[in-house]
Amino acid sequence: MLAGQLEGRALQADAEALLVAVFCRSLDTYCASLTLAMDGYGTQAQMLNRSLFEDMVDAHWIATDPDAAIERYEQHAEHTTMLLADVVRKYTDIWSDVEIPQLDDARRKELDALYGPYGTAPWSKLNIYDRVAAIEHMWPDEATRRQLHLYRDLAQRDNNQMLHLSSSSLRATLAWPRPRGRIEFQVGPRTDRVDVALFGIFWTFAQTVGLMIDRFGCTMDDDERAALFSMRAFVTLTDEQMRDTGRNESCPCDSGLKFKRCHGA
Ligand SMILES: [Zn+2]
Repeated sequence: MLAGQLEGRALQADAEALLVAVFCRSLDTYCASLTLAMDGYGTQAQMLNRSLFEDMVDAHWIATDPDAAIERYEQHAEHTTMLLADVVRKYTDIWSDVEIPQLDDARRKELDALYGPYGTAPWSKLNIYDRVAAIEHMWPDEATRRQLHLYRDLAQRDNNQMLHLSSSSLRATLAWPRPRGRIEFQVGPRTDRVDVALFGIFWTFAQTVGLMIDRFGCTMDDDERAALFSMRAFVTLTDEQMRDTGRNESCPCDSGLKFKRCHGA
């Protein structure tokens, strides 16, 4: 559906091409992460969710500061070329016939200062805290901004711990605490962490899709938007709450919507 929307409207600025590129990348990551999670590889899906969250944040950052995004994109591409030239210079036996372009030392220093001599800084030059601070105004109210912060502070931290070798990622492999005198290692598909991964996949990608819908046009009323993109989609009500809540009462999930427009729909 969204692909159809995008086809219908020409891109109006270079930054929009960047935005769509990030979205296409995210769509593939979303599908890949979903496949892993559904196959029982929740931890590996979380590793992809880290990228999904970074892309979601970057997409919002491109939308909120398109001129800076284009500038950084071009600077970063230039710096990447310089770093690749370093590699060619280091391994001349492999690439003896590659001609290295003449590089401007002053420019190199300038770009090293932005992205680090080994290119370790993000292409936007902003860490995740600065990027979230730059985009948080795009979430409409305090409650949804809190979701964004909570995801970064908790879920993304967990995603990071799974991606890198950490006590958490090791603990996920080593069954712990173990019965005395016995060590167990977990290998192969399993159900734990699948729910965590699925939550990350859906919540994060919903934020990116919401941005694209806003940007490229798709009419939704406030209730539909709230129903689709809020955390309440992940709240399960008890049988009693479902039975005892009137259709016109506020939904017990705290979405702020009437029950009939929320869990009672
Ligand atoms: Zn609800």
